[in-house]
This record gives sequence, structure tokens and C-alpha cells, in this order.
Amino acid sequence: MPVGRGRFAPSPTGDLHLGSLVAALASSLDARHRGDDWLLRLEDIDEARAVPGAADRIFSTLKNLGFIWTEPVLVQSKNLQAYENALDLLQAQERLFVCHCGRSDYQGAYPGTCRTVGRLQPGAPRPKSDVALRVNTHNSGTLRWQDDWQGWQRQDLESEVGDFVVRRKDGFHAYQLAVVVDDAAQGITRVVRGVDLLDNTPRQLFLQRLLGLPEPDYAHLPLVVEPDGTKLSKSRSSAAVAEMVPTTALRLALKLLRQPEPPPYIENAHELHAWAAAHWNPAPLSGAANLHLH
Ligand SMILES: [Zn+2]
Repeated sequence: MPVGRGRFAPSPTGDLHLGSLVAALASSLDARHRGDDWLLRLEDIDEARAVPGAADRIFSTLKNLGFIWTEPVLVQSKNLQAYENALDLLQAQERLFVCHCGRSDYQGAYPGTCRTVGRLQPGAPRPKSDVALRVNTHNSGTLRWQDDWQGWQRQDLESEVGDFVVRRKDGFHAYQLAVVVDDAAQGITRVVRGVDLLDNTPRQLFLQRLLGLPEPDYAHLPLVVEPDGTKLSKSRSSAAVAEMVPTTALRLALKLLRQPEPPPYIENAHELHAWAAAHWNPAPLSGAANLHLH
């Protein structure tokens, strides 16, 4: 049987913080427990938000924390042709259209205003920027899928989200498009990520089906919150994990993930990963909305 693949995909918008360490550790342990490979991807497609040097610092922090990944990191900003090829495929199916609407032109789901008038004919040149490109979700039906940790989910894409942006007005490819192209390119079989992306999944399933790409399994992880349940504070989330003793940071992340406590004699980050992977138990994450700091 081919080996499965998990991944962690940080954005270079700052240093690795506690919330992203927890996400990285969950996906890595989940993959390792299954005997899967674990890969990295740099989600730097939004160049306007990238912080110079952040990517290198994230990778060196992960290395110091004992994370081990296979293959070179996939860098989105170097993969733009693959996203253009995906747009070609959507356009060939007459699913792609030019949209001039602004934020104030509609509320809630996009109502399909430019769907017909903006439709791009197969092979026609696409405007490079200044207009958004959306994918037509007409007749996409109700998408149902079973999230490994959050249970059965459903969304009627057309009425709840509407035709969504696949290339932004500023010319950058949208996250929804890049993530499905990249997951396929990296052969990802299982996506472990924060529950804040749960309602994005139907958009990705829809694109995977249109583009003929394999559908990975999904497991959405509760988010780390303050003891009172509020969003992780700026000071705590920005407290650089890089400055913590690696085993201390890993033990804290394991505690947040409600994992068994590794024995105190383990003083090495690599051994800690191995122990935690062998004892990985995602059951306490099932259906949980939040992971509370204490
Ligand atoms: Zn429009």
C-alpha cells in the first residue's frame, strides 16, 4: 500500500506561535502515527502579507523543535503556473467568470451577479488583474463529507457561499484554488488543520471535483483559546515559540492537544516526537470546539 501523506502549511506572516505549533504537531503526530510522510508547504501566495525572513525563521524553529519533514518545501509563489493551468481547466468548463462587484455590492453569499455577463469563453484571454475571477457554483448541490474529528458536515455551496473567488482582484490566486492544486501536487492524502477552515472544505471539494483531483481525508483541529474561551491573545500568540526550550514548548502543545503526558525522563525533542507519535490519540479532539490554555 502506498504511504499516505500529511502536511503543514504555514504562512510567512510572522514567527511560529503557539497556535501554529499545536497545528503543526497535531498534523505531524497524526501522520507519523499512521506511518505516513509529513510535508511542508509555504503559503506565501499573498505576497502583500509576507514578512521578510519569517519563512526561514519558521522552518528553523520547526527544525529546532525536532520536526522532520520529507521532500523540499513546496513554495506557492514559485508554483503560479500550476494555478494558471487550473484556471484554464475551469475556463474550459465555462465555470470561470470575470466579476467587477465590490464588497458593498452584495451581502452574504455572492448572488451570481456577473455569472453570465462575465463568463470567459474557453481559451479566451483572461484579464491579468483589476477584476476578480470567480467560479460558477450553479448546480453544485449539497456537499456532504465526514470530517474525521468534527463528524458529518454539509453545505449548500451555491446558496450558502455562492460563486467564490479563485483569482483575486489584485491578481493573486485565491487560497481556495492554490490549496487544492498544492495538496494534489504534494500527493496529500490527509489534511489536519484548524477548525477555522472547516467551512472552507466544501469549496475545496467542489474545485477538486471540477479539476479531477483526488480528495484527501479531512480532520479539523479545535483552536487554542485563552482559559476564558476568548481568542488567543496577541501577546500569547505572538510570544515566540522559538524562545522556549524545545521540550517545554512540545510538552505544552501536547497538553493542549489533550495527549498523554510523556515521561519526565525524555529530555530530547526527537525522542518526545517519537513517544508522542506512538501514543497519539485523537479521540479527545473529536467534536471539541476549543483547546483551552490553563
Ligand atoms: Zn460580480
